[in-house]
Amino acid sequence: MNSEDVKVIKALLSKPKRIVIVPHKNPDGDAIGSSLGLWYYLKLIGQEARVIVPNDYPRFLKFLPGTPEVLNFERDNAAAMEYLNSSDLCFTLDFNQLGRVGQMTPILEGLGATFIMIDHHQAPDSYAKITYSDTKMSSTAEMIYNFISSLGDANKITSEIAECLYAGIVTDTGSFKYSSTSSKTHQVAADLIDKGANSFEVQNKIFDTNTPDRLKLLSCALKNMVILKNYNTAYMSLSQAELDAHNYKKGDTEGFVNYGLTLQDIRFAVIFIENKEEGIIKISFRSEGEFSVNEFARNHFHGGGHTNAAGGKSDNNMEETVKHFEALLENYKEQLTR
Ligand code: 5GP
Ligand code: MN
Repeated sequence: MNSEDVKVIKALLSKPKRIVIVPHKNPDGDAIGSSLGLWYYLKLIGQEARVIVPNDYPRFLKFLPGTPEVLNFERDNAAAMEYLNSSDLCFTLDFNQLGRVGQMTPILEGLGATFIMIDHHQAPDSYAKITYSDTKMSSTAEMIYNFISSLGDANKITSEIAECLYAGIVTDTGSFKYSSTSSKTHQVAADLIDKGANSFEVQNKIFDTNTPDRLKLLSCALKNMVILKNYNTAYMSLSQAELDAHNYKKGDTEGFVNYGLTLQDIRFAVIFIENKEEGIIKISFRSEGEFSVNEFARNHFHGGGHTNAAGGKSDNNMEETVKHFEALLENYKEQLTR
């Protein structure tokens, strides 16, 4: 964050404000971890604050402290609307286009509050008064740590803040193994451990609380894997019927897409997941090296994200979506096999 932004934020926070913190729809560990970490910090410095999620988040993230006080826009709509309509400041975390909050989009677009964006995705929109955007950052949680530090308050980080931010960092770095992990990421994580985050416990709760249903759903996805050697590409799909047969719960497919990339020579991995209720196919894209899945998702599937991890969707059915995807690959053959 530059010194001018720090000055403006210090001025904004110098008086008590009513603050709302909003992560993207279908919040992941970084979205919810950074939101709750910021929420604890704002309360600590005497602000009135609330986290409002556009919709529910996975059960394996509900251990995070502060969870009982999170408002869910879908479930707690009246309370969420009342709080939103009287808020002065709105932090949007882990996304950079207002369209990423689903049903909350028109509400945020019409909000009188001052917006502060903290995010690490590419190509931010310009809806905020303060845009703290850095695509080199491992996670929004690491940026919240920097935000608190820039305000001179790193020494105030409590064990709750530390645990939430640590959860965000391990989620978005795949436990410190993705290319966005820097030495600074490790230093921040180390400091969070010193301040009370228990690395083993947090990671155990996020990554090692599988259900038999989820493991069987994974085996189904792996069985469905198609390997396109000519394009160094692997994709999987899960139909709504397959999800239903395995008693699908939100978050169950988290991480499945990465299995494609563990194959030698595979540089592009994709998973297509049918969502009958929304009438879409939700797609996750992952790559290794220079091939930008952010651009691929942006150009062809109404999405975006990072160079090596992005998401998007299709309004066509599974068969048409996969067919369209396969046809697109020919245009990228050189990039994928170079
Ligand atoms: P995932 O595949 O895990 O859902 O998402 C991978 C990355 O892409 C995350 O950083 C996520 O925020 C972003 N992302 C996922 N879906 C979308 C989408 O529909 N639009 C945009 N702009 N980003 C997305
Ligand atoms: Mn993130």
